[in-house]
Amino acid sequence: MFGKHDFDAVVVGGGPVGLYAGLCLAGRGLEVEVLDGRTDPHLPHHPVALGPRALERLDALGLLPALTQKGRVVRRVAFERDGARLGHVDVEAAGGAYPFLVVIGYDALESALEAALSARHARRRRHHELEGLTEHAQGVVIEVAKLERVYTGYIVAQHEWEVQRRFEERARFVVAADGAGSLVRRRCEIPLRATGAARTWEVFELCGLRDGPTEMVVRLDDAAPGVYCPLPEDGGAWLFARAADDGAPLDAGRFRTLLGRHAAGFGEGAELRRAARVTVAPGLAEPPGRRRVWLAGDAAHPADLPGARSLNAAFAEVHDLTDHIAARAAEDTTAGGLDAYVEAMRARWTRAPVAEADAPPWARAHADQIAACLPGAGPELDRLLAPVGLRLA
Ligand SMILES: Cc1cc2nc3c(=O)[nH]c(=O)nc-3n(C[C@H](O)[C@H](O)[C@H](O)COP(=O)(O)OP(=O)(O)OC[C@H]3O[C@@H](n4cnc5c(N)ncnc54)[C@H](O)[C@@H]3O)c2cc1C
Repeated sequence: MFGKHDFDAVVVGGGPVGLYAGLCLAGRGLEVEVLDGRTDPHLPHHPVALGPRALERLDALGLLPALTQKGRVVRRVAFERDGARLGHVDVEAAGGAYPFLVVIGYDALESALEAALSARHARRRRHHELEGLTEHAQGVVIEVAKLERVYTGYIVAQHEWEVQRRFEERARFVVAADGAGSLVRRRCEIPLRATGAARTWEVFELCGLRDGPTEMVVRLDDAAPGVYCPLPEDGGAWLFARAADDGAPLDAGRFRTLLGRHAAGFGEGAELRRAARVTVAPGLAEPPGRRRVWLAGDAAHPADLPGARSLNAAFAEVHDLTDHIAARAAEDTTAGGLDAYVEAMRARWTRAPVAEADAPPWARAHADQIAACLPGAGPELDRLLAPVGLRLA
């Protein structure tokens, strides 16, 4: 009556990583369902920069035309300090068939992935939240709550979300892509090792930019770093890190003050479309899974913003992880013993950038910030770092 409840794999979380995991698993012939508990969107349009390797993977799913149409093709990441240009990385220098980045809104990326998922007859169940899970020898039992919007306001429309019904599902494997606060990670008691201090960022999305930069711009400043991402048409977004959240309203006045302080002369005619504060506590789940339950994306490695490594690493990891799961599903064994996979994942997140002998002083002084702003992971990130004299240790 209520549909199918047994799957080869259930993906928890229908953000970009969960949707990509669903696509990879469906593409390997597994019966898969993606559960997503999201109710109201949080910062739905924030920009994400996809690097060449992620674009190659998404192109293999036929998604590149949609991404370049809905996003902005960017060919250069520039570095500035105190208003002066220090240097840049041309993405073309990294080589390969995709010599560019695509900067795209989170929601546009998600809708492209979701369309591809439904074309493969795999389902993303919206408003379905995992409440708990229990691992058994043969599989995982998942407790799901179906949420329903209930209108409470009469003159002014208001709503709340309530549980409409609860039910159980069974899966041979679970991929948990349920974001930085991952309930699956907590239920499985997988520790999250802090890899840095929590930081708050203020994100300002703009429109009406006349002659705005066509490149990503990184303001190298340890105390108050900032990043500019061009968006389609006349849009763009600034991200500024704050030492502390002073609770000031995020309005046009605030934006102008920050611009004046950090990027004077920028954004003639720009209008503030929306703004948000995001706090991230970076960490690494160790181990990132076991037997039948594996973490992916921010559930496994929440990263400080601008988080340019996040999705780019996650797509690589999910590609490898779902390969392993499909092979284990065919053999009917658990996905334990993925030591090489776990090691490769840890390396993506623990290798720090170091300077070559010929690195310019500004790159040497800001190696971490530069690496955090280049959209790539592993060997691809190495290639992007090379033009400024850096490499991963
Ligand atoms: C301002 C900003 C800029 C960024 N820029 C970049 C960039 O340039 N490049 C880059 O690679 N990354 C960037 N990032 C990071 C990137 O957005 C995240 O790494 C990415 O969204 C992680 O995807 P995810 O699918 O793992 O998690 P999320 O996007 O957080 O999605 C998790 C999903 O799981 C659902 N969920 C949670 N709990 C449950 C549950 N119990 N049951 C069911 N569903 C559940 C949530 O509702 C959500 O839909 C940026 C982030 C921000 C905020």
